[in-house]
Amino acid sequence: MRIGFIGLGNMGGPMAANLLKAGHKVTGFDLASASLDALAKAGGVPARSIAAAVGEAEIVVTMLPAGPQVRQVYAGDDGILDSAERGALLIDSSTIDVESARVVAKAAAEQGYDMLDAPVSGGVGGAAAGTLTFMVGGSDRSFGRAQPVLQAMGRTIVHAGPSGNGQAAKICNNMMLGISMIAVSEGFALAEKLGLDWQKLFDISSKSSGQCWAMTSYCPAPGLVPTAPSNRDYQAGFTADMMLKDLKLAQQAAQASGAATPLGAEAAALFQMLVNSGAGAKDFSAVFRMLRAAANP
Ligand code: NAD
Repeated sequence: MRIGFIGLGNMGGPMAANLLKAGHKVTGFDLASASLDALAKAGGVPARSIAAAVGEAEIVVTMLPAGPQVRQVYAGDDGILDSAERGALLIDSSTIDVESARVVAKAAAEQGYDMLDAPVSGGVGGAAAGTLTFMVGGSDRSFGRAQPVLQAMGRTIVHAGPSGNGQAAKICNNMMLGISMIAVSEGFALAEKLGLDWQKLFDISSKSSGQCWAMTSYCPAPGLVPTAPSNRDYQAGFTADMMLKDLKLAQQAAQASGAATPLGAEAAALFQMLVNSGAGAKDFSAVFRMLRAAANP
């Protein structure tokens, strides 16, 4: 298929490369010239503008930082809604607020485009390996049309419901992850104060009711899960900046919808402290290091 790809950064770059590997033709645009060079190296066609990237595409994929960029790239002057072929399918894989996703999808529908929100989990590693999980919001018809493209970039593809529900799934999941990472960090920090060996707590809790992904796959205390960023000085992984962004999106959605998320709010405050301490580019599991430091000034 002819695919137009906007936003070729840490995630979009390898995702576009996988589309090329699957035999699709990819024309891409990014503000950063290094990203365009990388696309050319992978066999894609770099374009000089959004219009040039999407003008002949059957499917458009975007992977941009946040809601404002998505609104701008789709609905701004010379944006996708001004330049894509009528009938093209539009897929936004950025993580953005539910409202922006729904507003842009509505504007797209008014101009005759099918649009999906399809945020991902799996990080840069999953993007490179083509094993991302896609959480998709939009119509059944659009979901069906997107399959060849999503399957080239991901392994698990779930239709979460109508427009905006992909973003809803993403922020609910990441709010649970942010809270559970703090919970595990507090448990291991308390164990240290009580003279309980981390390995012993891990052996017990990983088989008990405290078990969760943040502990068994990504333990914030070093030395227990070999692949965890805690063993590499909290090199990301998934940055504290990104976790904070997602927790703020969750809080925004909770306020708008009237949901009670007191621990989500507390998690956002703690990750804000972590980011303010200068650790925004570190892995989000560095929240453990911050809690330990607070207890041992
Ligand atoms: P990134 O900053 O590396 O890439 C974003 C790209 O968009 C950049 O190359 C930037 O130049 C480009 N861009 C910004 N504005 C543009 C515009 N107006 N026109 C064209 N290009 C523009 O970010 P990333 O890590 O690739 O993340 C992208 C999205 O994926 C974010 O919403 C993020 O929350 C989400 N996400 C990231 C990860 C991760 O581990 N990195 C995991 C899951 C989801």
